[in-house]
Amino acid sequence: MSWAICPDANLITQAYGCTPILSEWADASCKSGRFHSGIDLGRTDGGWNLYRKPVYATRAGQVVKVGAATLAGYQVDTRVVLYFGDQSVTIRADDGHFTMYGHLDWANCSVGARVKIGDPIGLVGTKGNSTAPHLHVEVRSDGPYQPGPQPTVDPSSYLNPLPNTQEAEMLILDTGTAAKWLLDGGQILDIDSGATLQALQGAGVKTITVTQGFIDTNRRKGTQGAVSGTLTVT
Ligand SMILES: [Zn+2]
Repeated sequence: MSWAICPDANLITQAYGCTPILSEWADASCKSGRFHSGIDLGRTDGGWNLYRKPVYATRAGQVVKVGAATLAGYQVDTRVVLYFGDQSVTIRADDGHFTMYGHLDWANCSVGARVKIGDPIGLVGTKGNSTAPHLHVEVRSDGPYQPGPQPTVDPSSYLNPLPNTQEAEMLILDTGTAAKWLLDGGQILDIDSGATLQALQGAGVKTITVTQGFIDTNRRKGTQGAVSGTLTVT
């Protein structure tokens, strides 16, 4: 499972809602006494593999806050700075909701900027109340970020799941065999020597999104190498 908001993430490390984790907001309405006000995205192979990976806007809107410094003018609380570090981005989405991206290592947008869905807004980090790199996504209907658990909205529908997307690794064998895409689940898609992108599309591959490395669809048999990317198959 992966999401357009952060394609390199593949795991929800903490869901939205009541939680036993003591570092989250106190909330008497939870039996556990604590409430996680957003969704945390990480990786199955560890958060550091997500460090400084790109984060994309999940809704079109306007950037209303970047970093702790711009908390002035809103409710300022030391906990906010500690919790989300000095790089968080809040976007007032066109649907009226406020989407906040927390613990970023770096924000590459500025207050007032207009963003579209899919615009890069920063890099995953571990600033603030965080033990490892992850993305905290939080959505509010009432206004920009304020400390505390309520009133927040379950951000599940804001992650923009990437449908039919599989992590894939291209293995280029050095034994004279054709390059192959080895898909999760064991499915293998052959790429003949000299195959073009069009040929791949003809084989059922709709789009290819490279999240790291590169894909050279014109590699010849016998060459060595391994790259990783994301395949969207029909
Ligand atoms: Zn969180």
